[in-house]
Amino acid sequence: MYIDLLTDSGTNAMSSEQWGGILSGDEAYAGARSYYRLQDTCRDIFGYGYIQPVHQGRAAEKVLFPLLLQKGMVAISNMFFDTTRAHVELAGARAIDCVVDAAKSPSIRAPFKGNMDVAKLEQLIVEYGPEKVGLVVMTITNNSAGGQPVSMQNLRETYAICQKYNVPLDIDGARFAENAYFIKRDEAGYTNKSIKEIVGEMFSYSDMFSMSAKKDGIVNIGGILGTKDANSPLVTGIKANCISYEGFYTYGGLAGRDMEALAIGLYEAIEDDYLKYRIGQMEYLASLLDDAGIAYQAPVGGHGVFVDAAALLPHIPYYEYPGQTLALELYLEAGIRSCDIGSYMLGNDPDTRKQLRSEFEFTRLAIPRRVYTQAHLDVIADALIEIKKRANTLRGYRITWEPPVLRHFQASLEPIR
Ligand SMILES: *Cc1c(COP(=O)(O)O)cnc(C)c1O
Repeated sequence: MYIDLLTDSGTNAMSSEQWGGILSGDEAYAGARSYYRLQDTCRDIFGYGYIQPVHQGRAAEKVLFPLLLQKGMVAISNMFFDTTRAHVELAGARAIDCVVDAAKSPSIRAPFKGNMDVAKLEQLIVEYGPEKVGLVVMTITNNSAGGQPVSMQNLRETYAICQKYNVPLDIDGARFAENAYFIKRDEAGYTNKSIKEIVGEMFSYSDMFSMSAKKDGIVNIGGILGTKDANSPLVTGIKANCISYEGFYTYGGLAGRDMEALAIGLYEAIEDDYLKYRIGQMEYLASLLDDAGIAYQAPVGGHGVFVDAAALLPHIPYYEYPGQTLALELYLEAGIRSCDIGSYMLGNDPDTRKQLRSEFEFTRLAIPRRVYTQAHLDVIADALIEIKKRANTLRGYRITWEPPVLRHFQASLEPIR
């Protein structure tokens, strides 16, 4: 493996400040100093009353979702991340994606392609009945749509609809800082606001948030769950589930040192210079692909370049996994590891077991934070350019074995000859 773009999750390089925090973490079982530091940081940045550390994002989902969802209910999102969808289904409910149409056309350059389709959201709530909609999830940035941002206006409108029908709203905030950077860069009225002010306003338009801190927390492990209202009736259930699954509620499966490093990383993630460098890496790699005529979800999003494998490999149908085919070819070409965000990841319908067809077939080049240099980005572009030259000779893959849930983490494939 030469360059590892499998994920930007937990693959971040921590700063010297964060490593200093690792050495000064307080390992008291209950009420550790490091817990209070994390709580104060989250209250300051997000403005929420109750803060629950957990060991990673899916742990927040496992603790929270069964309190709101059960069989016969649905959850609606601008787009569910794969583990988030899985936890909706494990709670017995069904997951519905409701992203704006622009997200489905990678070559259409529109701002805020991660947005919720608010008209469709309202229609779905009315159709199912508000009492059947256990949860609305706003994923920022919209990972599965290509790390695409959600606008402040869209956050505001989505929250208004949820309040109108009394449906709880959860922000899935793994990349909250990158989203805030895009709002500052592209949305009218935010140019002169600080990232922290923008984050505060973003989170004011939700009732709760669940977050993998392995992304914009710039740590290697960690997650956070929060409710705006410290006295929310949910808090009792969150504490009980946390104690059962994660650990006592003042550490939630993390060591004190992990919470210390996370409290520092959250502040580093909202620094202007850091975000400019971070998004700048994506813009640079995307510009190399523009020059080579290689399509990707455009404009480029926050945490990676999502190459449009369906456009590069039009002869490979969705059920032979063009996104996964290109990921494997990149590895063979240059030792670059990436992954599929398409039909291979989407999996089978939980009721009929039939292969679902994704709206798009991406090969995701996720860029870890503060790890790679511009020279690495050049190698990645060169490898893709080489593959493009022989794209029409590539063949798809078939699955020879798959587990029932989240199959793409474990399945075996073979090339179709
Ligand atoms: C990574 C991620 C999760 C799950 O978090 P883990 O820390 O990997 O368990 C949930 N939602 C989104 C949007 C993510 O990117």
